[in-house]
Amino acid sequence: MWVILIDRKIIKWYYLLRISLIEGVIKMSFKRFDGFTGSIPQKFIDKNFQRCPMCGTTEPYWTLEQKMGWVNRYLFKCSKCEAIISSSVPDVSGFGRSPLTTLGIAKALSGKKMRTIYMKVNEVGNMQVTKLHEGKEFSLTELKDLANSIQAVE
Ligand SMILES: [Zn+2]
Repeated sequence: MWVILIDRKIIKWYYLLRISLIEGVIKMSFKRFDGFTGSIPQKFIDKNFQRCPMCGTTEPYWTLEQKMGWVNRYLFKCSKCEAIISSSVPDVSGFGRSPLTTLGIAKALSGKKMRTIYMKVNEVGNMQVTKLHEGKEFSLTELKDLANSIQAVE
């Protein structure tokens, strides 16, 4: 009798765990980091992109999320057009310039420049005119130029 009860309990736990895991993956929790912790990427995006390179707004009010992987990345989301651009954690924090890091090796393998900060356009957001940029990688300077060349639609 008690064996059945335990089984049911395990099954219940198993499902609760599964649901929370699935939700954890799906739920994107972009938020701002105005405090001390996490302020490096927040300052990085706010300083470099006062204009969103996808919609051209001067009030992108960037929110952040960290994505784990072989090389961890920061995802930046524009609050106006919901475009998501990303850069690697070492690039943002300034440690991506050494060839002796995982990122350095990755850069060397793909023929990239050590001193260049690379940014990827993960999602172009609501601005369909910029659809051709989706999934593309730009240097920080190129993406800044793009931001300055766009007329804000507001
Ligand atoms: Zn935008």
